[in-house]
Amino acid sequence: MEDVSEKIQAIAARLLSENVVDCVIGFREGTIPLMAEPCLIRSADDAHLLVFNGFCGANLANYLPGLSGRIGITAKGCDSRNIVNHLLENQVKRENLYIIGVPCTGMADRRKLRSKAGRDVIDALDQGKTLGVSTASGEMSIPKKNVLQDNCVTCTHRNPVIFDEMATPPVPEQENADRFSDVNAVEAMSAAERWTHFEELIAGCIRCYACRNACPLCYCPTCFVDDSRPQWVGKSLDKTDTRTFHFLRAFHCAGRCTDCGACERACPLGIPVRQFTKKLVKDCEELYGFEAGVLPGVRPPLDTFRPDDPQEFIK
Ligand code: SF4
Ligand code: SF4
Ligand code: SF4
Repeated sequence: MEDVSEKIQAIAARLLSENVVDCVIGFREGTIPLMAEPCLIRSADDAHLLVFNGFCGANLANYLPGLSGRIGITAKGCDSRNIVNHLLENQVKRENLYIIGVPCTGMADRRKLRSKAGRDVIDALDQGKTLGVSTASGEMSIPKKNVLQDNCVTCTHRNPVIFDEMATPPVPEQENADRFSDVNAVEAMSAAERWTHFEELIAGCIRCYACRNACPLCYCPTCFVDDSRPQWVGKSLDKTDTRTFHFLRAFHCAGRCTDCGACERACPLGIPVRQFTKKLVKDCEELYGFEAGVLPGVRPPLDTFRPDDPQEFIK
């Protein structure tokens, strides 16, 4: 992936030195293995810090709300879809953005990688189709497709949907991905089984809100969980409060979630929180034929009204 990183570095250096943008949001090497970290550079001299590899799973659109000036941003498929959301929701102006499109072949899931390589991973190098992994006990090569994040396995928008310049040529999209097998499995359960399923799913949640903080959709100045007047939800680890947080947050993402996986990736407990939002992604597609962030300028179903909208669910 050095080639991609070099292309991004060259574009960022040019944009900054020609004063096209005031800053560029991208990734740099992280301080721990398997994690590239988001960074913001303001000088062409720092462009060499930028990297792109299979560990750049955070969604960089998360950093746009509240930034001022002209902003350059590297965007893989899902980041670009969340940029489209931000444009629709007036969080950023298109004329203030320069989007460096980065085709993506999927991000590595550090938990899957550690389960194959062991916990003592010292370093890992993205070599394209394989990951070269160094552990305390030796070197190994792991096919990247075996350790992809779940959302990347079924991603059908690997190429940015909006960009000013592509860092490298587009990659083939994944046709015929079985995108909703996990949702179908939950839908097939009885109501009682579903209740137990979701109770067990969030049983370990510590309400750290890392999932919310990693999500580009969650830019509210005060989140409902942090409000105290009125207090919508308790602050404790009471099951009802934890449930309320997850259910309400998911509904706040309805028609907006791009299934980028940033929430799930951020959870320190490895809780598959996308199971909440994925059901809403499926419903939006089936009921309204709408996929979030794919068509710039098209408003999401919960933001519009058509007389022929499906109404069977209104009881
Ligand atoms: S969970 Fe809801 S209220 Fe909280 S930041 Fe996200 S969208 Fe806003
Ligand atoms: S809810 Fe999760 S998957 Fe959906 S946009 Fe937010 S971070 Fe991405
Ligand atoms: S990141 Fe995980 S533990 Fe933290 S609030 Fe979200 S689901 Fe719960």
